[in-house]
Amino acid sequence: MFADLKAVATDPILGLMAAYKEDPNPNKVDLGVGVYKDEQGHTAVLNCVKQAEALRLKQEDSKTYIGMAGDINFNLHMEKLAFGSSHKALLADRLTTAHTPGGTGALRVAAEFIKRANPDATVWVTTPTWANHISLFQAAGLKVKEYAYYDYETRGLNEEAMFADLAKIPAGDVVLVHACCHNPSGMDLTFAQWQRFTELAQERGFTPLVDMAYQGFGAGLDEDAAGLRHLADAVSELILCSSCSKNFGLYRDRIGAVTIMSQNSAQAQNVKTNLLSVVRSIYSMPPAHGAIVVSHILDSTELTALWYQELAEMRNRINSYRQLIIDKLAAQGVEQDFSFITRQHGMFSFLGLTKAQIAQLKTDYSVYMVDSSRVSIAGLNHSNIDYFAAAVASVLK
Ligand code: PMP
Repeated sequence: MFADLKAVATDPILGLMAAYKEDPNPNKVDLGVGVYKDEQGHTAVLNCVKQAEALRLKQEDSKTYIGMAGDINFNLHMEKLAFGSSHKALLADRLTTAHTPGGTGALRVAAEFIKRANPDATVWVTTPTWANHISLFQAAGLKVKEYAYYDYETRGLNEEAMFADLAKIPAGDVVLVHACCHNPSGMDLTFAQWQRFTELAQERGFTPLVDMAYQGFGAGLDEDAAGLRHLADAVSELILCSSCSKNFGLYRDRIGAVTIMSQNSAQAQNVKTNLLSVVRSIYSMPPAHGAIVVSHILDSTELTALWYQELAEMRNRINSYRQLIIDKLAAQGVEQDFSFITRQHGMFSFLGLTKAQIAQLKTDYSVYMVDSSRVSIAGLNHSNIDYFAAAVASVLK
């Protein structure tokens, strides 16, 4: 039965990670994977997480099943973090949340939920988008199409083309929008563009699906959720998928959440039964660890304050490197305009290099980035930034 299976291509980022690992060059630089690294190039466990884990060890008295919706206290914290603690949808019992294995789990549950609500729905994603978005929705049997988003010429948002595409999307379809820190381009919607997006969602009747994998990595926790909150004030239904991988540094613990905002509390009850039966048919119940850790942090004023501080450190370190890249490239005599880097947000920057330049960076300098020239800025630090800038300057010549 297995003999007829054909090998499938693996995600290029995994190949890149493997090649980086095997590269003996002591100066090698990994800008591929979207994981935060500190000045020492290390992805450390946050102190607030360490303390919450100690608390868990002390307090946990059972390993019984956690239930299909997961940790109810965690779910409420996630709703408050995303929507704000007194959002009208939360107060009116219109939100249904399930904690999921990572943001990926949230998206997969959302996909199966959409398939139940409207099997004919097309899910519209940005051009480009995180590659896994496409596979996740297709795996649930949904059609996936792209709407214009990033303009490779201007290195900004393809605003008019985007709104022209959105204006044609019919009711019953789903439009995926990145809440902040767009992966891969780093180009986010301005508040005015969120307003226009919201108006179109109302006029056309499509359902927004907001993917928020980087809350707190752009401008701040509330700032990064401003677009989502505006949208949630105006439309009657939406889907939110969130992740604690980046902002709590809990990557391998696989913790995220899916929230469905319904028109009213009666519909939210129906939504809940459907959402939970989707969960039941995929993995039955989520793993508890990450949710308990996040709950311990957000239940405690001190640990929450520590988390804000550690999150701000990560955000500020990445942001400070945006200007530094521009300055260091200029210092290497690069004349091209890289000012667009400071207009991008979050973990990534699209440098706009050609495939040949990216290949040369890898073979001649052991500088690793994905083929789109998306770089994970946290891979840079004071020990490698000059080497990186010199390498980029030489391939640009
Ligand atoms: N959405 C986007 C846009 C992402 O970039 C990622 C992580 N790369 C996810 C969702 C999923 O994150 P997680 O690791 O929590 O599954």
